[in-house]
Amino acid sequence: MSNPITVANKVQGLVLLLLDVTEKQQQEQLRREFTANVSHELRTPLTAISGYAEIMSQGLVSPENMKPFAEKIYKEANRMITLIADIIQLSRLDEKGAQFIREEVALGDVLEEVVQRLQPLAQQKEVVLTSYVEPAAVPGIRQVLQEIIYNLCENAIKYNKPGGTVKASVVQIGKHAVLKVADTGIGIPAEEQPRVFERFYRVDKSHSRIIGGTGLGLSIVKHGVQLHHGEISLESQLEKGTTITVRLPME
Ligand code: ADP
Repeated sequence: MSNPITVANKVQGLVLLLLDVTEKQQQEQLRREFTANVSHELRTPLTAISGYAEIMSQGLVSPENMKPFAEKIYKEANRMITLIADIIQLSRLDEKGAQFIREEVALGDVLEEVVQRLQPLAQQKEVVLTSYVEPAAVPGIRQVLQEIIYNLCENAIKYNKPGGTVKASVVQIGKHAVLKVADTGIGIPAEEQPRVFERFYRVDKSHSRIIGGTGLGLSIVKHGVQLHHGEISLESQLEKGTTITVRLPME
């Protein structure tokens, strides 16, 4: 849009209004992809639930097969619950966290709580989960910081091997609190590493599905880190393990 500036009926200048629409278009595109992915991801378990229920309602399932059928419905329904929880969490973060309360959060305390909550999962997967914390507080949103740490530690356990380890730590380096989650798990192939933070991206779709992955965990983490003006980096070697480092400013 342009408007001439006239002084005493003479054109003296021009006001030009240029709008950069590329970012807007990209966001629009991402939103459309996200909606399509959400629909697909929700339809898959729902179709399975509907199919099993239909066969059961037609009396086509023998009494001894009732239990496995019910278990399948239960599993798919749980998958939907997990997906919906992740989608709600992402859309809350999309609103730029305006509705969250910010406070001083002792990151080490949060890490230790999370590690305690995840010990049963670690034991079940035969993974040794340990933590090391130094006092480091960041101005932040407690719940979001909890989710960041939880998702990273949960992945480090889920994508591990029996007898493996997960070492989670919080240390202070200069004016940053540095959270590190290092595992000795299956690792991520180099070419996939830049993509794992994308929404719904899973390296091995079937494997991730079996262990209950939605592909949303790391995008929630990345969003949460951005809300705290932090940085996230990933180092990984196939079959050796993965280390994810989050640096959060302390002021
Ligand atoms: P998911 O819900 O599938 O775990 P995430 O967004 O948390 O989704 O992770 C995306 C993908 O990145 C996972 O499906 C998995 O393939 C890979 N991944 C994430 N964390 C690790 C890890 N610590 N070790 C190996 N692979 C990982």
